[in-house]
Amino acid sequence: MQLAQSIIADLRRIVGEKNVRTSAEDLIPYSFDGTAALQQMPGCVVFSESTVHVSEVLRVANATRTPVVTRGSGTGLSGGSLPLANCIVLCTVKMDRILEVDRANLTMLVEPGVTTIQIADTATANGLFYPPDPGSMKISTIGGNVAENSGGLRGLKYGVTRNYVMGLEVVLPDGEVMWTGNKCVKDVAGYSMRDLFIGSEGTLGVITKVLLRLIPKPAAKRTMVATFDQMDKAAQTVSAIIAAQIIPCTLEFLDRTTIHCVEDFAKVGLPLNCEALLLMETDGHPAVVAEEAAEMERIARENGSMEVRVAKDDAEAARLATARRSAFSALARVAPTTILEDATVPRSELAKMIRFVENVAKKYKLRIGTFGHMGDGNLHPTFLTDERNKEEMHRVEEAFKEIFAEAVRLGGTITGEHGIGVAKKSFLPDFVGKAQLRVMRELRRVLDPNGILNPGKMFD
Ligand SMILES: Cc1cc2nc3c(=O)[nH]c(=O)nc-3n(C[C@H](O)[C@H](O)[C@H](O)COP(=O)(O)OP(=O)(O)OC[C@H]3O[C@@H](n4cnc5c(N)ncnc54)[C@H](O)[C@@H]3O)c2cc1C
Repeated sequence: MQLAQSIIADLRRIVGEKNVRTSAEDLIPYSFDGTAALQQMPGCVVFSESTVHVSEVLRVANATRTPVVTRGSGTGLSGGSLPLANCIVLCTVKMDRILEVDRANLTMLVEPGVTTIQIADTATANGLFYPPDPGSMKISTIGGNVAENSGGLRGLKYGVTRNYVMGLEVVLPDGEVMWTGNKCVKDVAGYSMRDLFIGSEGTLGVITKVLLRLIPKPAAKRTMVATFDQMDKAAQTVSAIIAAQIIPCTLEFLDRTTIHCVEDFAKVGLPLNCEALLLMETDGHPAVVAEEAAEMERIARENGSMEVRVAKDDAEAARLATARRSAFSALARVAPTTILEDATVPRSELAKMIRFVENVAKKYKLRIGTFGHMGDGNLHPTFLTDERNKEEMHRVEEAFKEIFAEAVRLGGTITGEHGIGVAKKSFLPDFVGKAQLRVMRELRRVLDPNGILNPGKMFD
């Protein structure tokens, strides 16, 4: 069954011929996202260029009960922008204008298809700072970041996307356009609808404008790499740094497998003679940075670090950060299928969780590279596997179940930043409980009574 020709004709009338794709070869790139082993051809792909386009497309979809899957760059890791058969994929990448930088109020107004890096670069060009920096920031869109409430390497000190969203323009499933939030630092008028749409994974509305908070740029920064002969020592170092009441902007972790893959891929001179590596960064006032860096180095040595190397200049610091950002791509080169997970625990439980992941890998005879935002307790155990090997994929699934169960048992969560989508859907009901699930379902029914936005995602 295909989308009715009358619907395609309506979509062409709204967004123009050039913005509607229907041929198989044009649809294939939109039939999957960054999540392994998931693919589904959509009915068509529509590129919106304005809020009016989005609104009119949703009106047609709502009237004809046609499912709509909103899509940014498709880098999501939980299948959020995976199409449904015969759905409209509504792609926002052409809505890519930076509409305003307000230096008096420290805000930036952007369209949803602007990439995260463009936002960060524009803030820097104006002497300001936009901290959220997901590993995918060179291509991910701000619409996708808001819809997933994405985190990044600086989440420990600066928080996640939610902490920088002051306002949103959202098109509701029936096509009505709504504004929520404003430039006020304080605003308690009514429910915080803005917060409802952040992290809603394309299920409640289509985000068409984002008003972002910017902050002053830190005056100084210092980047260090500490190596360890045991993972436990790296985990203990993270706990000891936090216990010493130092909040670095970055505390990232790579295990042996990941270090070797990254070095092979990025050739930045990472030390290869260790089991674990911490990338540590502190920023702020120069005097505070110097003091914190010295203290972090001392704590790392005290907890058994083999070597602490301080980046000698900005270029080396940038190379090290780039190396960490390339962890997923580097691991993806060594096996046909790379399944990256998102288990997150309170920081005090990190060492236990890392050990548990290692034991699960041994138990199920699987290859895992683990890296992640260690300062946030957010680990990315990454299975290097082959989706064509059904027996091995079964072991991967069983291993995941054990990892998530342990994360929850330790007081953690089933996803720290990648969202539920389809990948974690089966884990959500038990995790949130009956009452919360009912409220979520009812909220969704009120906003989208015909169930056209991303149906089957997050929960049924
Ligand atoms: C190499 C790599 C590294 C990554 N690193 C990180 C990381 O460090 N931290 C992190 O949090 N994530 C990370 N991710 C995951 C992913 O990049 C983020 O979830 C990102 O925010 C998705 O943006 P996108 O534009 O690709 O959105 P998509 O994948 O296209 O969409 C993601 C979800 O958002 C919805 N959506 C998209 N645009 C809109 C809109 N305008 N309105 C409403 N809903 C919308 C979609 O329906 C879907 O449910 C990484 C992914 C990769 C491949």
